[in-house]
Amino acid sequence: MNVLGSTRVIGVFGHPISHSLSPVMQNAAIRALNIDYVYVPFHVMPEDLAKAVEGIRALQIAGVNVTIPHKERIIDYLDEVSEYSREIGSVNTVINLNGVLKGDTTDGPGFIRSAETAWGDLGGCRTVILGAGGSAKAVAFALARIGCKIVVANRTYKRAVELVESLTAAFGNKGFEAVELEREELAGRLENADLLVNTTSVGMFPDVDGIPLPPDLLHPKLMVYDLVYNPVRTRLVDEAQSRGARAMTGLGMLVHQGALSLKMWTNLDPPIDVMEQAVIEHFEKATPSF
Ligand code: NAP
Repeated sequence: MNVLGSTRVIGVFGHPISHSLSPVMQNAAIRALNIDYVYVPFHVMPEDLAKAVEGIRALQIAGVNVTIPHKERIIDYLDEVSEYSREIGSVNTVINLNGVLKGDTTDGPGFIRSAETAWGDLGGCRTVILGAGGSAKAVAFALARIGCKIVVANRTYKRAVELVESLTAAFGNKGFEAVELEREELAGRLENADLLVNTTSVGMFPDVDGIPLPPDLLHPKLMVYDLVYNPVRTRLVDEAQSRGARAMTGLGMLVHQGALSLKMWTNLDPPIDVMEQAVIEHFEKATPSF
């Protein structure tokens, strides 16, 4: 990578940041596109967020991704925020338009794009979401926007109720439901579901034997999307496929959300396969158990 005086800087704000996969896949895309950009990790402490955002303007950084713990609070420091980001109260991409900072979110659209690339149109699908954290909200709102009916099941039931309340406030009473993350509750809902999305961290490295629901509830008509991407094959995906269901892990969402961000900054279509391969190669080197 050749960093020159003309090179435009993009990057990611987070705390911690050293584990981020974004520099790996974004710089791979930048090399493949042969454009004069570099993607840099910025370790931004929570108390320094306002100054860091001011730095985007002062240093004429073209844009940044935003990750934990800044996705919600950064909204206060931006000039404009997309409707979808406003709805979910979270921003993962900042675009610097000549000093005007615009916030948007590519997590939900990245999820939809990767799932629809594999499985076709998801409009109106009956969905069960496991989990009610930040990624559940991004996915739930993206699915609600395309008319999906959504059941949210979470270990902490109260958070599932809160997510359903915010869906209902945004989209009206369209059959959103909160349930406990328990066998009896899930069994009936899954029987009539098309799509199951795991947004809990269960099954993530090093807990690779973890599974967020009893596997015998999985059935061949389900599409199963596990947001966990490390490992790139999770136990949930294995169990789903062994029962004849279509299933995938979160690598596709990771890459598509990154590609959508890069497109916002450069107006170019990033090479999805190159970005995906860069992440896989990084895991092969970094994770002994991979
Ligand atoms: P988060 O906001 O912290 O939410 C975590 C969720 O997991 C909560 O609903 C939590 O339930 C649940 N949970 C945690 N441990 C559990 C357990 N032992 N049993 C049952 N439920 C449990 O995290 P997040 O940002 O949404 O991320 C969640 C997962 O998605 C992570 O694995 C992350 O790597 C992955 N992710 C992937 C992508 C991608 O691009 N593929 C993007 C974002 C996130 P409680 O409410 O009860 O605590």
